[in-house]
Amino acid sequence: MTLKLYNTLTRSVEELKPSNPDHVVRMYCCGPTVYNYAHIGNLRTYVFEDILRKTIKRAGFALKHAMNITDVGHLTSDADEGDDKMLLAAEKEKLSVLEIARKYEDTFFKHTAALNIERPDIVCRATEHVEDMIKFIKKLEDNGYAYVSNGNVYYDTAKFPRYGCLSGQNREDLKHGSRVEQDTNKRNPSDFVLWFTISKFKDQILQWDSPWGRGYPGWHIECSTMAMKYLGEHLDIHCGGVDHIAVHHENEIAQSEGYLGHKWCNCWMHGEFLQMKDQKMSKSKGNFITLDTLVEKGYLPEHYRYLCLTSHYRSSLVFSYDNLDAAANTYRNLLNKYKEFGQANDGSSERSEELYTKYLEEFDSYMFDDLKTPQALAVMWAVIKDKEMSAQDKFKFLNNIDVLLGLGLAKNLALENAQNTEIPAEIMALVEERKQARLNKDWAKSDEIRDLLASKGFIVKDLPKNEVEISIA
Ligand code: AMP
Ligand code: ZN
Repeated sequence: MTLKLYNTLTRSVEELKPSNPDHVVRMYCCGPTVYNYAHIGNLRTYVFEDILRKTIKRAGFALKHAMNITDVGHLTSDADEGDDKMLLAAEKEKLSVLEIARKYEDTFFKHTAALNIERPDIVCRATEHVEDMIKFIKKLEDNGYAYVSNGNVYYDTAKFPRYGCLSGQNREDLKHGSRVEQDTNKRNPSDFVLWFTISKFKDQILQWDSPWGRGYPGWHIECSTMAMKYLGEHLDIHCGGVDHIAVHHENEIAQSEGYLGHKWCNCWMHGEFLQMKDQKMSKSKGNFITLDTLVEKGYLPEHYRYLCLTSHYRSSLVFSYDNLDAAANTYRNLLNKYKEFGQANDGSSERSEELYTKYLEEFDSYMFDDLKTPQALAVMWAVIKDKEMSAQDKFKFLNNIDVLLGLGLAKNLALENAQNTEIPAEIMALVEERKQARLNKDWAKSDEIRDLLASKGFIVKDLPKNEVEISIA
């Protein structure tokens, strides 16, 4: 089946046709800046990219998928202005910059795994590719796209006539509409830094030697360099959130095509933002909700994933706890149905098999048409309600589509079954004793009972309001 995807560059839905002779689809996704937790808005973008990854595979393509980790160089504004995010976090948490980076990278992968997001085939850290970036900038300089001004190296956007092609703005518009405070070292307002040696960050801890002096790379150069290193000169898909269109991705195109001398990436895909009802969620301002916040409130990560799928990736999605509650209820119904169908023993029939095939085709046709998840979910509910289909075929259908949707049905059912196994009275008595100890703020006793329970094979997890969850180790 053909897979059609919306391309921001051409503003149209196009058929995916791998550009390399080996027919392997090469996809690059901008990864997290690891100076703080990824918020649920960031995670919406990674859910979209995971759905894309799985749909590409479902459509029969081989895929090579790379993602970077920004552990150096991203300032609080996309346009080379503001403070160094990593440095601010390190100062605040009294850790080294690299300790901060590794801490939040680990948490990022814990959160994405909890959301059933598969790890990209290649994960590459900016700090481990600085030599490659220096070589890249050197070639841009040789090709006449870079200049040195007051110690920093800049990209000269006037030399790249296509600058602005992705956002549909020409350089003149960018000049007038520029929200960026003027850097007087730049020749043009849309120029950007490839390599910093002189900047306001005298205390920048991570620094490297370079032909232009000791310093560190600008943010944009890491993506062009690492995408090319791991995926070659012809990229099929490049993804990120919509906020990257106007600056970061324009800059990536200018760098990569200035380097290569030919077109770099065919299809640019962007996920719309998750909006908060009242305010903008911002990682740099720290006013955000993480996946842990949701789990602490008793939601499953899959409740949030389900909420994401109810809206098309190109539509903005408003987050509220009412919306999440609705998604959680729907998910609970889905899991109950899945359980019921899994216990049935009603075989199949010719008609039921026919319906199974028809629904599967319908489901795939929506997913292969620019990832229409809301319509695909509607097909799933039609299957659940269909009176002519056998329960066994419904179970088979749900297992089939969950490979793509990643709603963790089998996993959560197994967990639920494990939780429902009876807990011996002796264990329950210890749990109660521990609860009492916690009420008395006797933490030593509480820890002692927790260890005793663990030695008997039971794990207690503390929930709000002195409630606990007991699981079998
Ligand atoms: P960052 O770690 O800030 O570089 O962002 C990681 C990814 O999340 C990028 O692809 C951003 O475009 C995306 N992103 C940032 N804020 C939001 C949001 N509110 N909703 C959806 N995606 C977002
Ligand atoms: Zn990027």
